Amino acid sequence: MLHGVGRVSVDPFALFLSPERFSGQMRLLARLGLRGVSLAELRAAEDRGQARGLVGLTFDDAYRDVLDWAPPVLAGYGFTATVFAVSGLLGGENAWDPPPRRRLMDADDLRRLVREGWELGSHGATHVRLAGLDAEQLQHEVAGSRSALAGVTGVPPTTFCYPYGSVDEASVEAVRAAGYSAACAVRPPPGLDRELASPRLGVAERDHPLRLAARLLLSGHRSR
Ligand SMILES: [Zn+2]
Repeated sequence: MLHGVGRVSVDPFALFLSPERFSGQMRLLARLGLRGVSLAELRAAEDRGQARGLVGLTFDDAYRDVLDWAPPVLAGYGFTATVFAVSGLLGGENAWDPPPRRRLMDADDLRRLVREGWELGSHGATHVRLAGLDAEQLQHEVAGSRSALAGVTGVPPTTFCYPYGSVDEASVEAVRAAGYSAACAVRPPPGLDRELASPRLGVAERDHPLRLAARLLLSGHRSR
């Protein structure tokens, strides 16, 4: 689980990786014989029993800065990724966080990434916690964001990402009912469908390659 890549001076939630750190992390994956892929590609490989050596790469929130740094690095290794966009804030800012805020990708930016082989997934309509929402709000965030993003690329997204990792039984069911086939949380509570509430490993600037290697090992990733 990544968020931003770029040069930011103030980053209170430690969401951004410096371009150097990000490049070092991707180089590590390649050296370990791992390949970064989108969630859709990971799931398809799992269904075929061929997911060994694959690592799903996800970028939450769709920060505009990511465009300048991540696509060339990933392309250099033959990697892809999933970007999770907030459908109601395309071209806007991360209004859910206190300032200073960062620009978010607009529809053209997202289409460009999709042309480069990235997957576009939904991160909801307004970036609110889904656990505890009523049925109408859930519908807006989950199904509404899906149809809005379908309007961007012409294809409804198949992957969802819960804002703040906030997920409960009702939100999993809303995601299933809306037609998504995969969804990411962070540390989901036990008992939920893992396909629709997958745990993720968050990476930050402090994850220099050796530290990241240790974390991947502890999380059960094995190279080819
Ligand atoms: Zn987010």
